[in-house]
Amino acid sequence: MTRLEAKYPGENEYLQAVREVLESVEEVYNQHPEFEQARIVERMVEPDRIFTFRVTWVDDRGQVQTNLGYRVQFNSAIGPYKGGLRFHRAVTPSMLKFLGFEQTFKNALTTLPMGGAKGGSDFDPAGKSDAEIMRFCQAFMYELWQCIGPDQDIPAGDVGVGGREIGYLYGMYKKLAREYNTGVLTGKGGTWGGSVLRPEATGFGALYFTQHLLHKAGKDIAGQRVAISGFGNVAWGAATKALQLGAKVVAISGPDGVCAIPDGITPEMIDYMLEMRASNRNRVEDMADKFPGKTVFTAGKKAWSVPCDIALPCAFQNELALEDAQELKANGCWCCCEVSNMGCRPEAIHFFQQGGILFAPGKAVNAGGVATSGLEMTQNAQHISWSGKEVDEKLHYIMESIHHQCVQYGTRPDGSVDYVKGANIAGFMKVARAMLEQGII
Ligand code: GLU
Repeated sequence: MTRLEAKYPGENEYLQAVREVLESVEEVYNQHPEFEQARIVERMVEPDRIFTFRVTWVDDRGQVQTNLGYRVQFNSAIGPYKGGLRFHRAVTPSMLKFLGFEQTFKNALTTLPMGGAKGGSDFDPAGKSDAEIMRFCQAFMYELWQCIGPDQDIPAGDVGVGGREIGYLYGMYKKLAREYNTGVLTGKGGTWGGSVLRPEATGFGALYFTQHLLHKAGKDIAGQRVAISGFGNVAWGAATKALQLGAKVVAISGPDGVCAIPDGITPEMIDYMLEMRASNRNRVEDMADKFPGKTVFTAGKKAWSVPCDIALPCAFQNELALEDAQELKANGCWCCCEVSNMGCRPEAIHFFQQGGILFAPGKAVNAGGVATSGLEMTQNAQHISWSGKEVDEKLHYIMESIHHQCVQYGTRPDGSVDYVKGANIAGFMKVARAMLEQGII
């Protein structure tokens, strides 16, 4: 860590993600001298390669715009590079390195053979027209296409990249590569190679994981009050499944504030979340305007200010700080399943764990998204498509298996489970062993 901090000063998200994993695996690592001899940690914390490129496009006013694009191919020990693309104004190499690093362990947990990658751009989709989004995606793919391929590196969505963006990206890839294998991207439309349930998968998988965690703790999700941050694709899937399982979603939030929903979210509100995302306005207050009387909007507040039993961060890294964790506990919250990647600050996680609040990390909880991307790749390779029932069953099985791995590696002497340790050790052991078996490369 000391060497990395000196080498990459200021790459805070990346250093935070690495520190968490190294702290978790230290004891196990020291029991395996063969890992140390092959310098597994030193090799694992560095990405295999990073592509950086300029993306120039023309906006609706005819002005030329320039952004930066990246693809971080982090680790291919257990399969081809796999991970999403993030379009957000705050994207930096540090952010994508943290995400690619996390993705490597998350993908290892899915039981499927996928390596880790992440990419994206500092392009800000907020306020952009559909035509601008299309031109940007085309310009981005004009550079990216040579770095990816269905057996090599398979991007998908992440923050700011959903079905619409994947469509524009795929259209341009096909034109440039003259290759018609749909497996090069996942999260595609249902009529052209996309897997049924992929849009829902991150949120659905998160709730399946939460169910297993609650079951192990002798509790049930039905009737629990759930606070969700964000209103994008992940929050939408989580709210949908929470409602189906009989929970009450009492809050959703956005960069502008929080919408408390005292009687619980309704299917109409969940449908409206999709319209809010498609509008690119990035405002959760629109929900309060659409459903007056049923929702209470408070500007500048987070979802964590609304009393709940279960907190589900579904928005962005470090969105839940120590003071939020304290507020949640004071308001009666007893469980937090992190759905966003690294959604909680380390101090908040520490507070949860010390205070007896059930906590599970994003790389376990949100792995259903990339797992279903893996299922999409399988369907594409076989030129078939599975039914919703088949995909849902497989997703269920995968989430159960991830929970099992966390319990296997994270059970404390008193029988409780340290899910952070469990997820990190399980992912690490799989990647480390694969690297060792493949020699010094
Ligand atoms: N962006 C998602 C994640 O963080 C999904 C990646 C994928 O489907 O490749 O895992």
